[in-house]
Parts: sequence; structure tokens; C-alpha cells
Amino acid sequence: MSAAFDLVIRNARVVTAEHDFTGGVGVSGGRIASVFEGESAALASETIDAGGRVLMPGLVDAHVHFSEPGRGHWEGFETGSRAAAAGGITTFVEMPLNAHPPTVNAEALRLKQQAAATSIVDYALWGGLVDDNLSDLADLQAGGVVGFKAFMCTASDFPRVDARLMRAGMGAIATFGSFLAVHAEDEAMTDRLTATLRAAGRTDRAAWGEARPIDAELAAIDQAVAIAEETGARLHIVHVSSAAGIDRISAAKARGLAVTAETCPHYLFFDERDLERIGPLAKCAPPLRAPAEREALWERVLAGAVDVIASDHSPCLIADKTAGDADIFKAWGGISGLQSTLPVLLTEGSKRGLALSDIVRMTATNPARLFGLSPRKGSLAIGADADLVLVDPDAEFTLAEEDLFYRNRHSAYVGAALRGRIERTISRGETVFAAGAVTAAAGRGLRLDGVGVAADHQLLGETA
Ligand SMILES: [Zn+2]
Repeated sequence: MSAAFDLVIRNARVVTAEHDFTGGVGVSGGRIASVFEGESAALASETIDAGGRVLMPGLVDAHVHFSEPGRGHWEGFETGSRAAAAGGITTFVEMPLNAHPPTVNAEALRLKQQAAATSIVDYALWGGLVDDNLSDLADLQAGGVVGFKAFMCTASDFPRVDARLMRAGMGAIATFGSFLAVHAEDEAMTDRLTATLRAAGRTDRAAWGEARPIDAELAAIDQAVAIAEETGARLHIVHVSSAAGIDRISAAKARGLAVTAETCPHYLFFDERDLERIGPLAKCAPPLRAPAEREALWERVLAGAVDVIASDHSPCLIADKTAGDADIFKAWGGISGLQSTLPVLLTEGSKRGLALSDIVRMTATNPARLFGLSPRKGSLAIGADADLVLVDPDAEFTLAEEDLFYRNRHSAYVGAALRGRIERTISRGETVFAAGAVTAAAGRGLRLDGVGVAADHQLLGETA
């Protein structure tokens, strides 16, 4: 008796960006070979009864920092990808900064690709646009990066781009068919406010938020959108923290610009009172906002105005967090969170009526489209990679340090009451996480390169 499929998952609540039904999938050769409603009589080498739990495409995390090469003691691709698997993430796209050297030229990309080879799940890489690497952008594109990242304020060893460089960079990137993602905070404003607060002796947690107001985000978004309009380049605004920021992007879309909006689970779960309560572990940039702002951001999510939700997993040594216990400005800014994205959205989304299909759209389907990785990634289309997550959306738990697969087991989410337990994560048909344990070997992840991909598929934010 020969089996029709390698694997059948049946009796599931199948959720895609468009559909939500009882049924299952068949997998052959690591790809989706069948998606069925109701029951299937197909034979398979292995059958999993999902027991009515949710089966969705594995998440595509558009924004993680694994800090390798050079700072593997902060995270690294092996531990980071294990945490990804535990969080239902089957593809991640790794940022060009926090590693040393940053990924801003061909040699640095080669070192990054070497370090990334330990990943247990599939991945793609960002390249960086900084103050002096315009002549390296074509090499990065040819080397396989799937997008470019720039900062409008300097981030440690990743210099900011000014308007002139952003214009030149976007012009070049547009000719590749790629896009620019920006960290949008106006440096002149945040520098001046920081200096004033520090001169007044402010070291308290609230000072961090006061130094980086929503106006700084809006000023930077406005400038980036204006340059995108001039150059015709696609633009992605990462980790938008405010409703007004999302509204600026929606207005740009309405004018026909190819601009997309990302936010992060921490802006939807925490607010500025949590920075007061938790301290440096909840320090990030842009900072956590007021409770009313969090709800306004949720309204934009519910209205469909947010394209992508990504973790911005930004790990560090615990010492880099405790360094800010007495002076918040001295703590590392960044939240370790990729393992929590799906539970956080299930927890907070269920309180506000967010459809599961919308979670799939923002965490899997849209990010895959953004990078030109769709439909291979982020969907349950026939022929797509069998990247799946099986989750019990009603299981409640309190996140504990021991649950974390990060190299440094700290997170602002430790102690949080969450619902939505990831029961199994499948990458190209292989179970990589099940029942609380990672079950795959380092190095099985595939690198997804951008060359030639962008032209093949309709991309998110591209105008008709
Ligand atoms: Zn980031």
C-alpha cells in the first residue's frame, strides 16, 4: 500500500489570510499537496489529528536581530532560530545591524551568510543603507538580500542617513526592484529632548518616553514618504508606535504610493506604565506609548491599516539591561520577544475581536509578499512550502524564563499571562518544534535569496 502523502493533518481549524474552515492539509515532498475541507480519505505515511485546534501558515517574522557575526553572545542564529520555531515562526528576515560588522557590503554579507548557516528554520537577510555605502548596494542586492534598512537616527554602530543619502539610496534600490525600510524617528528632535532631560538630571523610566515623542516619529515618516514620492521607491516603515504614524502611511497609500506599515506586538501589549513597572527590559525605540495610544493603534490594526506585525526581537546580555536600573538612558533599547508574537496577538486580539485570518495576514502572508517570498512562504497554497503551525488558541499559560529558547533568557513578557500555546511547528514538512521541545538540527534552515524573486510576484505596497 503506497501512501498518497507523506503527512496529513486532519480535524483542524484551518486558518489562512482569507479562509477559516474545518479540514486539513496533505504534505508531499515538503510542500503543500492538498488543502481540504471536512475529511479526507487520502492515505499518508503519518497522520496528525489536530483535535480541532488551529492550523495556520508558519509566521514570517520580517524583523529580527540575531546579532551574529560578532555578537553571538547576545543571540546568534542557532538559538534565535530555535526560539523562532518555538514561537511558530518558520521564516525570519534578519536585520543588518547589531551584528559586527553590520551587513553593509559584500564582505559583511558573506560573513553574515556564514553565521546564518546554523539556522534550524528558513530565513532571508536584510542589507543596510548607511552613510557611506551607496556603492555597495548593488553588491548586496546581487548577494541575495531581500530588502534594505536605514535609520533616520543613529543606532550605536549603524549611522543614520540624511535626506540626501536616503534619496540616493532609494533611487538605487528602486532600480533593483527592492525596497527601503526605515526606522523613523527624527534625530534632531530626540537628541535635543534627550540633552534637555539629561541636563535636568532626569534618569527615571518616564524620561525615556519623553525624549522620544510621537512627533519625532511623525516628522521622520513625513520626510521618508516625501522622498519615496520623489524617487518612486517602495518604502516600508518599521515598528510604527502610534496611530497617527499609521494614518500618515494610509494617507500616502491613498495617494498611490507604495508605502507599507509595520508595528510590533509590544506596542499592542504594553504601554508606558509597563516601562515604569518592568523597567529596562521594556525599553525600546520608539518607546512604549500611553494606554490610550495603544488602543488607538489597535483600532488601526482592526481596521486593516497595518500591513505587517513583526517582533523586532532585539536581544542583549542581561547586564546591558540592568545597566539602566538607575539611569534608563544607560540600558540597551530593545525587547526580546520573537517567541511571544503569536500568543500575544491571540491574547490581545481575542479581547478586541481580531479575526485569526487577520493575524495570518499580518504575520505570515503580507510579510512574505513584502519580500517577494510569496506564495512559497506565508500561505497554504498548493505547491507552497509546508510551513505550518498548530496552536491551541485557548490554552492559557504564564510565560516563564524556562520557556524561552533565547541565548539570554530574559524578556519583558516573562510573567505575562498569555493564551495561545504553540503545540507544533512544521518547516517544509518536518516537525521542528513539538510539545515544548525543539526537534530539528542546527543547519537545516534554507537561505532565501532575493535575486530574481521580486520580479516574479505581486509585491505588497506595489501599485497596480
Ligand atoms: Zn529592529
